[in-house]
Amino acid sequence: MRGTGVIRDMPEVTESEALTTLHRVFGYEAFRGEQEAIVDHVVAGGDAVVLMPTGGGKSLCYQIPSLVRPGTGIVVSPLIALMQDQVDALRALGVRAGFMNSTQDFDERRTVEAAFLAGELDLLYLAPERLRLDSTLDLLSRGKIALFAIDEAHCVSQWGHDFRPDYLTLSVLGERWPDVPRLALTATATHATHEEITHRLNMPAARHFVASFDRPNIQYRIVPKDDAKKQLLSFLRQEHEGDAGIVYCLSRKSVERTAEFLTRNGIEAVPYHAGLDAGMRARHQSRFLREEGLVVVATIAFGMGIDKPDVRFVAHVDLPKSIEGYYQETGRAGRDGLPSNAWMAYGLGDVVQQRKMIQSGDGDETFRRRASAHLDAMLALCETARCRRGQLLAYFGQAPDPAGCGNCDTCLTPPETWDGTVAAQKVLSTVVRLQRERGQKFGAAQIVDILLGRRTGKVIQFDHDQLSVFGIGEELAESEWRGVVRQLLAQGLLAVEGEFGTLALTEASGAVLRREREVPLRKEPKRPSTAGAASTASGRGKRRSKSAAAELPEELLPAFEALRAWRAEQAREQGVPPYVIFHDATLRDIVTTAPASVAELGTVGGVGEKKLARYGEGVLAVLSSLDGSGAAGSAPERDGHPVSGGAPDGDWPDTEPEPDDWI
Ligand code: ADP
Ligand code: ZN
Repeated sequence: MRGTGVIRDMPEVTESEALTTLHRVFGYEAFRGEQEAIVDHVVAGGDAVVLMPTGGGKSLCYQIPSLVRPGTGIVVSPLIALMQDQVDALRALGVRAGFMNSTQDFDERRTVEAAFLAGELDLLYLAPERLRLDSTLDLLSRGKIALFAIDEAHCVSQWGHDFRPDYLTLSVLGERWPDVPRLALTATATHATHEEITHRLNMPAARHFVASFDRPNIQYRIVPKDDAKKQLLSFLRQEHEGDAGIVYCLSRKSVERTAEFLTRNGIEAVPYHAGLDAGMRARHQSRFLREEGLVVVATIAFGMGIDKPDVRFVAHVDLPKSIEGYYQETGRAGRDGLPSNAWMAYGLGDVVQQRKMIQSGDGDETFRRRASAHLDAMLALCETARCRRGQLLAYFGQAPDPAGCGNCDTCLTPPETWDGTVAAQKVLSTVVRLQRERGQKFGAAQIVDILLGRRTGKVIQFDHDQLSVFGIGEELAESEWRGVVRQLLAQGLLAVEGEFGTLALTEASGAVLRREREVPLRKEPKRPSTAGAASTASGRGKRRSKSAAAELPEELLPAFEALRAWRAEQAREQGVPPYVIFHDATLRDIVTTAPASVAELGTVGGVGEKKLARYGEGVLAVLSSLDGSGAAGSAPERDGHPVSGGAPDGDWPDTEPEPDDWI
């Protein structure tokens, strides 16, 4: 997979210049993983295709070569809404950065152009559509370019979930500037996408760097859906009080309802989806970046390029459509390396709905087949009794630890399995009898009512109490039967048909009915462990992030909170997100090191030259004001909202999702 890597225009820079820049500008001790090899390769003029998970540290791979090589690093990035923040964060480090996009007026753009031409920019961020303009290409050819970095490079993939036609024109860069090194970077790692990036960006000679896709600080958990909103509320209350996080929903309506439900229950949450006007989206995104503990409830429209380091959880209340999407979304948690959660509630309704959507969608046969394959892989992850992380890594072609990861739900609490062969036969026979004896097809709810022997209106209307299978399943509870149906669907032993989501047999069902095949199933918990939100309503009040402070000894908490309060003040004054001042991880390191001088503070990870000069005295003043007194920084109080039980709406998604292109 590794190309030879064409080396051009080898300047006399040494490895240590890159390392010095890492220390001096970014305040980091050492490169991580493949970073050093990538930086060296690009500094020396080589092209690179970089596959690294979200939070893996892709930015440094082009930022450092841009600082070390002569000229300006041109960064192509699809999200103009985030460029200002990216540039602010770099300027806070003393890096000369600028951006050009449609949000600027003429004068602002002229200033940036002039700075670029005068060689006064280290980095220049551009949206891909800019590179279609002759004026932009002319401008670039009049200045000195250090490198081209093509971020979110999977946007070039027509089969991917984030296709952007403008990315296809980026192949022109190599033709027009054959001597300038190019880096394509992405967190989407399947083999097909990887190939497509290399091919479409026309980078046959690039060297390929594939980092480990593991994100060990993220804990993966998938729970059976019972009442998704309540389960979510109890997860947030028990584990993420005061934390920033993202909740993903499939439809716009469920985004709005969920945000409203959380707010009503005392958790500050804002909605985000493509149906909201641009101003509101921008406001909500900006609040998420700037405030410390805000929850964003969103469709997949939200998140790409959001490099907020302290997102402590990503929750899915609906099943994502593919593992690629799921992994990218969950990867937005814990970029700072601190413990974080990827939590999902998933139920029978999700499977039925997604199968239905694939069948009734307008895609052609190839599209349907692809969508089904994506869904099958996602379902296999949800139903596995083995390590979730192992399954994810294997999906991306990486060898998992055979002993398990120790940090996912199946490793922490291995699920019990049971022999579901008889139960499966009961479900399948009911479907068969309805069809053979009555010529009818029904959805899961009716099948379960028949098995449980319930004389509901619909059962009586269709005389289903006369079927020989009526009441043969009283040994299991309703939630367990739904679990059986869900797992049969996931295993391909049942199929969903038509707009009503009726159940039908598959080719594989026969073997089960003939007793030629066993059906092992995961045991359904009667009461999902995180349900019962009302019982955990106590203990709210102080709005302190539990997990940001996690693992700090009790006596260091006052100092940590005081530094956070100081940071919030600085951020407010400058109008930037708090993490632009210092990351949580840096604050934690400061309180554990307890530096007594500016020089000592400079040794803490994340404290570079510029920040040391700017904030050094301030940080030491905060620390010394606490000495001995143990006084905690005052964290703002959160209003106590009454707990009101939202109407439970079961696990059936309440609305059809609408197409929601990300913005
Ligand atoms: P990506 O773009 O791959 O999602 P980022 O470039 O945003 O990831 O980096 C993720 C986080 O890791 C950032 O907070 C960054 O500051 C931090 N980071 C990256 N490289 C290093 C390093 N060598 N040492 C310490 N922290 C690092
Ligand atoms: Zn595991």
